[in-house]
Amino acid sequence: MSNKILIVGAGPGGMATAIRLTAAGYHVEMYEAADRVGGRMRGLSVGPYAFDTGPTILQVPQVYEDLFATAGLRFSDYVTLTRLDPNTRIRFWDDTKVDLTSNIPAFKAQLAQFDPSLPEAFERWYVEHLRKDVIGYGPYLGSPVRPPLDYLRPNEVLAALPFRPWETLYQHFARFFNDERLVYALGYQAKYLGMHPTACSSVFSLVTFLEFHYGIWHPQGGFRALAQGMARAAEDLGVVFHLNRPVEQIIVEKGQARGIILADGERVMADAVVVNADFGHAVQHLLPEHARGPYSDRWLARKEFSCSTFMLYLGVDRRWEDLPHHQLYLSQNIRRSDPLWAKSAVLDEDDPSFYVCNPTIVDPANAPAGHSTLFVLVPIPNLRYPIDWAAKRESYRARILRQMAKLGYEDVEKHIVAEHHYTAETWRDEHHTHLGAVFNLIHSWSQLGPLRPHIRHPGTRGLYWIGGAVHPGSGLMTIMEAARSAVHFIGEDIPAPQRRPLVAG
Ligand SMILES: Cc1cc2nc3c(=O)[nH]c(=O)nc-3n(C[C@H](O)[C@H](O)[C@H](O)COP(=O)(O)OP(=O)(O)OC[C@H]3O[C@@H](n4cnc5c(N)ncnc54)[C@H](O)[C@@H]3O)c2cc1C
Repeated sequence: MSNKILIVGAGPGGMATAIRLTAAGYHVEMYEAADRVGGRMRGLSVGPYAFDTGPTILQVPQVYEDLFATAGLRFSDYVTLTRLDPNTRIRFWDDTKVDLTSNIPAFKAQLAQFDPSLPEAFERWYVEHLRKDVIGYGPYLGSPVRPPLDYLRPNEVLAALPFRPWETLYQHFARFFNDERLVYALGYQAKYLGMHPTACSSVFSLVTFLEFHYGIWHPQGGFRALAQGMARAAEDLGVVFHLNRPVEQIIVEKGQARGIILADGERVMADAVVVNADFGHAVQHLLPEHARGPYSDRWLARKEFSCSTFMLYLGVDRRWEDLPHHQLYLSQNIRRSDPLWAKSAVLDEDDPSFYVCNPTIVDPANAPAGHSTLFVLVPIPNLRYPIDWAAKRESYRARILRQMAKLGYEDVEKHIVAEHHYTAETWRDEHHTHLGAVFNLIHSWSQLGPLRPHIRHPGTRGLYWIGGAVHPGSGLMTIMEAARSAVHFIGEDIPAPQRRPLVAG
């Protein structure tokens, strides 16, 4: 066996897996459809303005440091991170605001302005989460998924019960905080999972805690630079990248993945194939029908997928020095928890919640002097709930530009000199994302842990999945953990010939 492994897609999940596999001694080649690496975080340029396309929030830098260190590399040799303060400013429907910050005394002082009992409530919540981190991160988030019954080990169940994991994120925060604004401010991390806090499991309050505890960071040069840094590290380790090489089909013979067929008809053979392309897209378009296993069209139709996002990427001829890097507006409509809203099935044209990233202040290289870029994200329904985007696009753009004044971006339209938009259809057509659901399968109890697709494809040897569909789920931090698990499962099936010697550090 040559231990050659092909990876379909050079998104963050694919590249993290490549780094770990190469460090473990495998020969890895990556086939990427786009002209550059990074997937949803590959970025785009409009004239002299450079934008991040997807992620803007980097949590827990240790997961990247650990990834690079596993391969004998130093993360800081490839990517420079800047810590942000505040982490995020949240502005509420009643025009009050709170700055989420890792400066805990400063945060508690703000809470006291809301209600004198809140600093103490926060302290209780924080101390509980110091324990939840120990009990939850290692065995669940940071470990390879186990068979369902393995999660019923009495000692683990007993340890988890005090955290009431059956609660939703909303119920969880409402138990601690008697002010609905804070319940939503602290539960907004459900957005990362494309969910409403009333539908998202409370196990994800750990993400809120991790942001307080480890802060939020920005890679200099943007998340495009993080993608490029990961690619450079992978290349330094010997990973071979093939860009502009869309994969048309995965070759499966006699229950074994044998390689791939590229769009130009070339066949490349290997010992195993790891698919980083979006799960829903790939099972429908890249797997031969006989190898789909349980993931039929009916299976996909039964599953719940996340919301999509409407994106405005704006190059503007001024800077907003006084506005923070991350800002979120929570409209009163977020308080409507009827099922359609909780399922993100409604396009809010009345008073949409939205998020703006103002990266140029800490990272001036992305725009000409005195100018800046703005990244605007609005959660919208995925394409299971059809919206005529050709008809809606312009009016929705205008609605959001007016809405931006609520976060301090007054008269932004007058300052726009370059722009680009995405709708759910762009995510489907240009990023090959099933239903444009950018945060993948939702993270409800029925789609968590062993109930998500497994990294090992059922019924086909040598075929693996990496990305937001598998345990632990969507988001960069979680996908970095999934990459560790992918190498664990591959190592069990195809032992590595010999571990690469570490090259540094
Ligand atoms: C708007 C937005 C905001 C987000 N914000 C955050 C955030 O702040 N923080 C955070 O942690 N996460 C965030 N995320 C989530 C994060 O971007 C994703 O979880 C992550 O990018 C998924 O990585 P991945 O490697 O699984 O897949 P992807 O990034 O989708 O990469 C898949 C790759 O496969 C390639 N591919 C597809 N089909 C083929 C084919 N047939 N042949 C070859 N290649 C193919 C694609 O071109 C792509 O490069 C955000 C996502 C979006 C969209």
